[in-house]
Amino acid sequence: MAEKRILVVEDETRIAEILERYLRAEGFATERAGSGKRALELWRAFQPDLILLDLMLPEMSGLEVARTIRAKSDVPILMVTAKAEEVDRLLGLELGADDYITKPFSPREVVARVRAVLRRSGGGSLRPRVYRVGKVSVDMSAFEARCGEAAVALSPTQLRLLAALAKADGRVLSRHELLDQLGEPYVDARTVDAHVKNLRRRLGSCGAQIETVRGVGYRLRALP
Ligand code: CA
Repeated sequence: MAEKRILVVEDETRIAEILERYLRAEGFATERAGSGKRALELWRAFQPDLILLDLMLPEMSGLEVARTIRAKSDVPILMVTAKAEEVDRLLGLELGADDYITKPFSPREVVARVRAVLRRSGGGSLRPRVYRVGKVSVDMSAFEARCGEAAVALSPTQLRLLAALAKADGRVLSRHELLDQLGEPYVDARTVDAHVKNLRRRLGSCGAQIETVRGVGYRLRALP
């Protein structure tokens, strides 16, 4: 089996070096990013199977990095934080961090967590990421939506919204849950309503419809 690729995002050189040394000794291939911007570049170029992401980074925070990546990819993210009190907030935000580890940590513990997360996630970034409801399919690897064979032109926000609804598999999502998926921290719940309205128009009738569940939220349901 090809060696798994781990992207180590850490601005403290000493810690990053130790992590890389341990991970390489365990047979992983690694790349290192010292900033959020570099992390996003390497996420695209290196295509890691897992991202070890420090929360406290200069300029762009680990949270922003996670949000940006999660909007487009299901690559497992293992968050690293020096603040234990941040952990609840992180999990509460449902940023899609697959696990977290608090500093100070032993490198052995990190390697064990990396293995555990990779095991749980199956093929890592190789997982199929196409969600289907009715004739609607959303492919988040290709970042596109289709109605049957025909591509549907959607804005990135509309696409994320549709992916969240399709992934929920008929479950009702609240506006707040949908907001979390949009990766736009400053929009309010009413904006979700506007996005849904536009998305409905774009989708047209495609064997599925976005239903409003009054007082709760939205769901995407296949039409009989
Ligand atoms: Ca740091």
